[in-house]
Amino acid sequence: MTGTTGNPQTRQWQELGHAHHLPPFTDYKQLKEHGPRIITRASGVYLWDSEGNRILDGMAGLWCVNVGYGREELVEAASRQMRELPYYNLFFQTAHPPAVELARAIAELAPPGMNHVFFTGSGSEANDTVLRLVRHYWAIRGRPEKKVVIGRWNGYHGSTVAGASLGGMKALHGQGDLPIPGIEHIDQPYWYGEGGDLDPGEFGRRVADQLERKILEVGEDRVAAFIAEPIQGAGGVIVPPESYWPRIREILQKYDILFAADEVICGFGRTGEWFGSQYYGVAPDLMMIAKGLTSGYLPMGGVVVRDRVVEVLEEGGEFYHGFTYSGHPVAAAVALENIRLLREEGLVERVRTRTGPYLQQRWRELSEHPLVGETRGVGMLAALELVKDKRSRERFPADLAAGLRCREHCFANGLVMRAVGDTMIVAPPLVISEAEIDELIAKARLCLDLTASEMPG
Ligand code: PMP
Repeated sequence: MTGTTGNPQTRQWQELGHAHHLPPFTDYKQLKEHGPRIITRASGVYLWDSEGNRILDGMAGLWCVNVGYGREELVEAASRQMRELPYYNLFFQTAHPPAVELARAIAELAPPGMNHVFFTGSGSEANDTVLRLVRHYWAIRGRPEKKVVIGRWNGYHGSTVAGASLGGMKALHGQGDLPIPGIEHIDQPYWYGEGGDLDPGEFGRRVADQLERKILEVGEDRVAAFIAEPIQGAGGVIVPPESYWPRIREILQKYDILFAADEVICGFGRTGEWFGSQYYGVAPDLMMIAKGLTSGYLPMGGVVVRDRVVEVLEEGGEFYHGFTYSGHPVAAAVALENIRLLREEGLVERVRTRTGPYLQQRWRELSEHPLVGETRGVGMLAALELVKDKRSRERFPADLAAGLRCREHCFANGLVMRAVGDTMIVAPPLVISEAEIDELIAKARLCLDLTASEMPG
């Protein structure tokens, strides 16, 4: 293993990892050669590694640490709840105060008419829940043949069997014979990558029209739901053209199918609204949430459900579905406190009116860089495309791994920026200040320069 320097403990931890740990989304062969980076502590928007390096976390962990690291209020909320009631389940007609109080708090923030929450332990479990819930819903309505869920290529809805199937990432599908039956996909609204010569508006309408074609192809009487992220995150911060969601909304109104918005990333303020659906003015029947719900301090997810769906569920028999940790009291107490912080500190408002516009303005300055083909983003989400030729949008050959190089330069220079192929993305904590945004931009620019110096001219 390489990559270690001063601190002898770094080496020990890396060896422990090597001996015993299989981390998620990892090429184990590469890991064996290089050894993991060890992160030991964090505060505000910064991480520290075991070598004492300070790193600006441009990804808020995995898009989740919305209120920033080191919030004592969340620690206190967890320890209070652990003393009072560390665990009890919500199966078999039972409830506890944190779960029902959190459900109310979420209903207060959600779009009107979405007043119930089914809790899960993660975003993937929330998506699994949706697949089963929509089928249960249609079965109660006497239409059990309405089973097919339409998702999008390159969408991400988690990595469980149902989550990966609903998502449209071919690399995930390739492992384990996915998607499972009953799931169809349409194209994503990725104008820069797939729009060709069309202007963004026209492209947005055309990819949205695919939803109607797919509904007609499968048969309206067989389609249960359409599932989509308001802005695709893991796929590369794909911000749809402005024409996209209005057209999708029209199609959804025309056909009798449910709309499930995956708000796992967009939820809890990332776009400058509480939910991405509100940013785009679409009205989902179900919203999957996780990540920013607890700011990542404890694992928790859920599905927010529209009243008209709940009314049907209340007519039916048992929903045979749930998790040991559904609505976990300590996670729920932390989520409640996290929501209180987001509200009291006006963090969502701040992203909408101040820091979001500032990040977007500064991020767009990177467009001038010779390597950057496009910059885009909303609120605390941003992406840029690394290209060989700005005008033709030609990419670098894959074996040059421009994105990965850029990501490694970032890490070495104290910035976490994620690479999705040659798309570089950031999603910093919502508490990031203007001065910290300046630091993020300066570091990103430096790393673009370093990457450019390694690319053939
Ligand atoms: N949906 C979306 C939109 C996500 O971004 C993610 C996680 N990146 C998930 C679902 C899955 O969430 P989890 O990793 O908590 O299972």
